[in-house]
Amino acid sequence: MNLHEYQARELLKAAGVPMFDGGVAATPAEAEAIAARLGGTVVVKAQVHAGGRGKAGGVKLAATPAEARDHASRILGMTIKGLIVQKVLVVPAAEIASESYVGLIMDRESQRPLFMVSPAGGIDIEEVAAKTPEKIHRLAVDPRYGLLGHQALGLALTLYKNFDQVKTAARIMEQLYRVFVANGASLAEINPLATTPDGKVIALDAKISIDDNELDRRADLAALRDETAEAPSEVEARRANLTFIKLEGNVGCVVNGAGLAMATMDLVKYYGGEPANFLDIGGSSNPEKVVNALKIITADPAVKVILFNIFGGITRTDDVANGIVTATRQFKVEVPIVIRLTGTNEQEAVKILQGVGMKALNDMDEAVKQAVALAKEAK
Ligand code: GDP
Ligand code: MN
Repeated sequence: MNLHEYQARELLKAAGVPMFDGGVAATPAEAEAIAARLGGTVVVKAQVHAGGRGKAGGVKLAATPAEARDHASRILGMTIKGLIVQKVLVVPAAEIASESYVGLIMDRESQRPLFMVSPAGGIDIEEVAAKTPEKIHRLAVDPRYGLLGHQALGLALTLYKNFDQVKTAARIMEQLYRVFVANGASLAEINPLATTPDGKVIALDAKISIDDNELDRRADLAALRDETAEAPSEVEARRANLTFIKLEGNVGCVVNGAGLAMATMDLVKYYGGEPANFLDIGGSSNPEKVVNALKIITADPAVKVILFNIFGGITRTDDVANGIVTATRQFKVEVPIVIRLTGTNEQEAVKILQGVGMKALNDMDEAVKQAVALAKEAK
């Protein structure tokens, strides 16, 4: 689950990271009032779950409350990476002398929290990573000991020469690490960690993602979820207890089991297609889940074909077939459906589908090839 910047900065501030106090506004008038209260130049920042807001025009300096109002009226309602801006953060503007990057992710390869820091921070960090990766310094933290003092200093020394700044940055990394661990984060990032002309080190942006598995035991974090800022399909899928991730392609996939879902997506790509989603209907047999899955997938206009890939173990393939039939009676599915199923109650499933003029395939390659071909025809 992604936090908004204004939520992430509260966690960091509570841990002691130096950041300005600001306010969140949902209307231009509110933004103006916050700017008037803060006084001086402020930054008006789009609150969406996406990076690159600066480049998209979602971060603007305002010298007066009236200007803050104008910026807010332009930024509110703006679309950034497919997400509509519903709130802006208004904070005092810092004068920037330098911009560094400090990030911490859960790294699957080292199976540890991994720091990535760079003196070349700011809005072009992706480019730095792609073109000059040597400018990014990495350190995997042993979770048994946490971030040790000398490690924090070592990282900070890659950012600054001035020793006061080095010490401050080292402390910020320790605070970031504590926030990361204490909240079950999968990512925690400050970009930019800025210096001001008078030498202060201050965090100007904050991004935190919480591992969804943490939310069951942390009602306080779960309460930070902003469903209005998430893809509607993902919200609906969560409510229906489906594991669903929207992707960019046009082959809608309905699969039981995460491993088979991954294998199916790999095969779609192997045969030249692009999956429109990851969707795991889970191990249990519940026709209702299939109906919900089809509702969510067919709501995506990018989907040109729907591919079922069901391996019946605990999942009964006849339940899935019933779900498909029920769904097509409840609403019109405009795109072709390719069904591959095998395993528990396969004969019954085939009969159920044949009863409504649908065909079930047994071979996975065959089904995927067909689905990819249909998606190509539809273009
Ligand atoms: P992002 O583009 O979504 O990562 O949004 P950021 O919060 O990082 O803002 C993007 C850029 O706006 C930063 O890299 C800064 O260059 C600039 N910016 C953000 N806050 C301030 C500020 O307080 N003062 C000044 N002068 N620039 C800022
Ligand atoms: Mn940023």
